Amino acid sequence: MMSIGLGELLLCSVALLLPILGVVGIVLLARGTKQKTDFGLNLSVPSGCPKCAAPLPTVRAPKNARQLLWGGWTCTSCGVELDKWGRVRNPTS
Ligand SMILES: [Zn+2]
Repeated sequence: MMSIGLGELLLCSVALLLPILGVVGIVLLARGTKQKTDFGLNLSVPSGCPKCAAPLPTVRAPKNARQLLWGGWTCTSCGVELDKWGRVRNPTS
């Protein structure tokens, strides 16, 4: 009969879980970039506000927790909230 300690069990599950989490993260990132969701990575900064065409600040100062977490801008000219892809963010979502 093989006996396994709780610590070994914990170590094994962490060692098994970490690569799975990494793969899930990469898949989310790749899919998010393709479908332009919050999980995506946008390396090309949008040139201006889609509503009033005012240029967006190059240095992004997050105005709220969502912008800090996912990126995005609040237009200094018309006050509309944009996501990291430069699209107008629906305030209800
Ligand atoms: Zn604007």
